[in-house]
Amino acid sequence: MRRIYLDNNATTPTLPEVFEAMRPYFVEQFGNASSIHHHGQETRAAVENARESVAGLLGATASEVVFTSGGTESDNLAIAGLVKAGNHVITSSIEHHAVLHACKHLEEIDCDLTVLPVDRRGLVDPDDVRRALRPHTRLISIMMANNETGVVQPVEDIGRIAAEARVLFHTDAVQSAGKIPIDVKRIGCHALSISGHKMHAPQGIGALYVRKGTKLEPLFHGGRHERSRRAGTENVPGIVALGKAADMAKAALDRSHNEKLVALRDKLERGILAQVEGTSVNGENAARVPNTTNIRFEGIEGESLVIALDLKGLAVSTGAACSSGAIEPSHVLIAMGLQPDQARSSIRFSLGKQTTEADIDFALALVPECVARLRELSPRYARAGSM
Ligand code: PLP
Repeated sequence: MRRIYLDNNATTPTLPEVFEAMRPYFVEQFGNASSIHHHGQETRAAVENARESVAGLLGATASEVVFTSGGTESDNLAIAGLVKAGNHVITSSIEHHAVLHACKHLEEIDCDLTVLPVDRRGLVDPDDVRRALRPHTRLISIMMANNETGVVQPVEDIGRIAAEARVLFHTDAVQSAGKIPIDVKRIGCHALSISGHKMHAPQGIGALYVRKGTKLEPLFHGGRHERSRRAGTENVPGIVALGKAADMAKAALDRSHNEKLVALRDKLERGILAQVEGTSVNGENAARVPNTTNIRFEGIEGESLVIALDLKGLAVSTGAACSSGAIEPSHVLIAMGLQPDQARSSIRFSLGKQTTEADIDFALALVPECVARLRELSPRYARAGSM
């Protein structure tokens, strides 16, 4: 059966070039990068090359890049590593749980937390950030692009507010890296998280940019790896892969290669809106990363549509999470003002570098048919339709 994957915000396939770059570091070049002999020097050089590449993607210098196990660790390292008991932290209601839950945990060490709302487009208002500042505010953590809607936040404005207030600023750029240009200096952030598997490197590798001179308390205690910011023997194959993926992402961004992705995403989005009645795009009127569209299908249970499409070979997702046996609507869509049943009827389509026009045509042939079938079975839609 033909299988088309439009769930690249969940994870991306490792690109063949990336896999080839990491391959020698499993068997032939296996040394511990901390060893002083030949084997160690060989892998140390590979790690430092990759650090340059990641720094190049972010507009940083190599010594500001700390390798981690992924986005969740980078977010936790930034938040726990920059905040002390008694501090105040500002975040937003649409953050990934890696940030939201890490911030909530701070309340247990007597920190105060402000969780800012977003408007209907899914945007944080920088003035809300300014108004939320308190004398003991230590950190602002607001994401660069949302994983469910792709909506890009005004991070440069927030960076300016943080600078004026002399407050630290962390941004979760896990869903931005490789999709839109990132320049840590323009953003004015002190810390920025990325994750390999969202940008065509493997799962289990990520990085945290930490601005030079920013004091970061490590999460792990152990050796002096990563300039004492992240103890533990480096994942050399993963790091090499992240470096290669960063080089490839930078080259594509420099060539505006992502325009192809925008064209494919827009074709999919417009095609669905034109062919299927009762549809709308969540976050439509805001700037979005090129690969994501989040579409609401009135009268449809999102999970049922995901399953129906999967049975026909198309992989997409809902932002919903299953908690204690019940399907919770997406906290992001609820924060944008959707009713729970509207949030539950929304589906995320996310494209990747491997996505072709034929994949989009496949999706456009399938989605209207599956939606129509589910609506025939849906008393909810029949009721709404007859009103
Ligand atoms: N932050 C965002 C915005 C994400 O989308 C994700 C993953 O979905 C993460 C953080 C966590 O990254 P990882 O899966 O590498 O731990």
